[in-house]
Amino acid sequence: MTKSPLLVVGSVAYDDVETPHGHRPNQLGGAATYFSVAASFFVRPHLVGVVGRDFHERDRALLAERGVDLAGLETDATQDTFRWGGRYHENMNDRTTLFTYLNAFQSFRPKVPPAIQHVPYVFLANIDPVLQHEVLGQMRKPHFVGLDTMNFWIGGKRDELIAVLRQVDGLVINDEEGRLLTDRRSVLAMGKELQSLGPKTVIIKRGEYGAVLLCHDDVFTVPAVPLDQVLDPTGAGDTFAGGFMGWLARTGDLSPENVRRAVVIGSVMASFCVEGFGLERLLAVRQDEVAARYERLLRYAHIPHAGELS
Ligand code: AMP
Repeated sequence: MTKSPLLVVGSVAYDDVETPHGHRPNQLGGAATYFSVAASFFVRPHLVGVVGRDFHERDRALLAERGVDLAGLETDATQDTFRWGGRYHENMNDRTTLFTYLNAFQSFRPKVPPAIQHVPYVFLANIDPVLQHEVLGQMRKPHFVGLDTMNFWIGGKRDELIAVLRQVDGLVINDEEGRLLTDRRSVLAMGKELQSLGPKTVIIKRGEYGAVLLCHDDVFTVPAVPLDQVLDPTGAGDTFAGGFMGWLARTGDLSPENVRRAVVIGSVMASFCVEGFGLERLLAVRQDEVAARYERLLRYAHIPHAGELS
């Protein structure tokens, strides 16, 4: 297969998801899964992770058909696949984690295949920061390393997370997790403090309220795409990150203007994700729908001849 500029390491999972619109047990999920499906609209991402003996061949085929390179996806025949259960509240922004079973990730030691150790764009999706660090150690001078995490790791492996943050260029995090890491409530203060931990590009996701980007001195806000219906927000953050990194890797352009564009694309991809349960909507999206929604989102935030207030 053609060599892709983008690598993701993260969870591949079976999720048990409850939202006010339904309950789906054993839904294919995981941070690296959502990320790579979203990124596959722009590049053919390489995935490094592990699944267990119960992982279905059809799910492997589904990812392969999207052009995701699975050479770095190991199978642990002695364990089950990672499992996560969550329940969303009525407002669809807040959720309760019901369980996290690491299973195959418990004893996993990532091995980046030699053929992809030179990949320039790397995303350390949500997983144990110790594993994120191990992957980074195997890469040869990447141009841009992004990272995501969640409350589970901020609470459980804070020091390890802080250590890996020092080595990354970009952080994609939601506001609740940003608050746990920094103790700051105001989004700008939080963003600046996160920058001081290492990454000079920080994206704070705020669910249905959009996202804020700090890129060195540049500050940019992007709204979420207004939607008629949200069925399942699971994976929205990973899908956002997949769109964002997929665009950067495809263009190879890290100018502040293009990073802004990548954030808008992240917001567009996340909006598709939440319109269906699991991956179902995202998998049905056509390229022209991505472009149309991108234009629509830009129009929502645009005032022709805005003029001056004085
Ligand atoms: P998001 O909704 O973007 O925060 O991501 C949800 C996905 O993250 C689900 O598909 C889960 O399988 C996965 N996930 C949940 N908890 C963890 C965890 N502690 N480590 C890695 N992945 C997780």
